[in-house]
Amino acid sequence: MHNIPQISVIIPLYNEEQNLPLLHKELVAVLKDLNKSYEIIFVDDGSRDNSFETIKGLLREDENIVGLSLSRNFGHQVALLAGIEHSSGETVIMMDADFQHPPGIIEDLYNKYSEGYDIVNTRRIDSKKTGFLKRATSKLYYKLINLLSDVKIEPASSDFRLMNRKAVEAFLRFREKNRFTRGLISWMGFRQTIVEYDASERFSGKSKYTVRKMLGFGMDGITSFSSKPLRVTYYIGFVIVILGLFYALYAIVQHFRGATVPGWTSILVSVLIIGGVQLLSLGIIGEYIARIYNEAKGRPVYFIRETATK
Ligand code: UDP
Ligand code: MG
Repeated sequence: MHNIPQISVIIPLYNEEQNLPLLHKELVAVLKDLNKSYEIIFVDDGSRDNSFETIKGLLREDENIVGLSLSRNFGHQVALLAGIEHSSGETVIMMDADFQHPPGIIEDLYNKYSEGYDIVNTRRIDSKKTGFLKRATSKLYYKLINLLSDVKIEPASSDFRLMNRKAVEAFLRFREKNRFTRGLISWMGFRQTIVEYDASERFSGKSKYTVRKMLGFGMDGITSFSSKPLRVTYYIGFVIVILGLFYALYAIVQHFRGATVPGWTSILVSVLIIGGVQLLSLGIIGEYIARIYNEAKGRPVYFIRETATK
């Protein structure tokens, strides 16, 4: 058994073979500069390209690499967890494989840790290089999540951060399956700080977060930290019932005054509104139930197909 490294770098990746060799080179340069012992854990999240072969190739040059290959694509958040669970370092640094999290910032993260912080988060300074749509939707999303949920989540935060062992042990006690890491981290407490960095463009390939994955991720963020949507449904239902009562009263009075008209429009409108509210409520309840169901099954969060080490 080798000694405990000072830094474990964790890199979840999905189809990133083009980025890996250069990323590894830059990481090693930064870590050597820092003069710290390290391990680099590449978590291959079921890539369809030759990412894992590339990792094995790198392992031949650098014995501080650990390659984990998940049995299928489980998603970024789960891949992160797999990496963290297999890390042994005094500190853990998690980052993306596409250079959007510049390796050069690792030094700043480590310095903050040396100052005594348990968790060092990062904030992306939004340069024009991040796509307009991504910036706008991300901003809107964080507004919404902070409005709805009980934990505060920094806008423009990402899963690029350092944690010390104490924080990692705490983090590993979360057993939920729909994981929204930055929310969990915020909820944890400990001594946290933020380092800013300038986001660069993806080095190679395109974003692995499809619109569908983004929406799922967004829903996880809201439903795992807030039950307010459930309550909103209740309020809307309540208001509608009161209004409906008045409307019914009015209709009855009109009936006895003999002023009834065919009234197709009003019937249609009320049926549509009530139907709409019901569908909406059911949808929200469904989202939560889906998550309860997911947790209740108690399934393993991921499987590892292959491990590559020296
Ligand atoms: N990723 C992953 N599994 C997935 C999707 C993404 O491990 O199912 C990795 C990806 O390879 C990258 C990181 O998660 O290292 C962030 O993904 P990406 O850069 O595609 O997201 P974006 O920067 O566009 O938000
Ligand atoms: Mg990216």
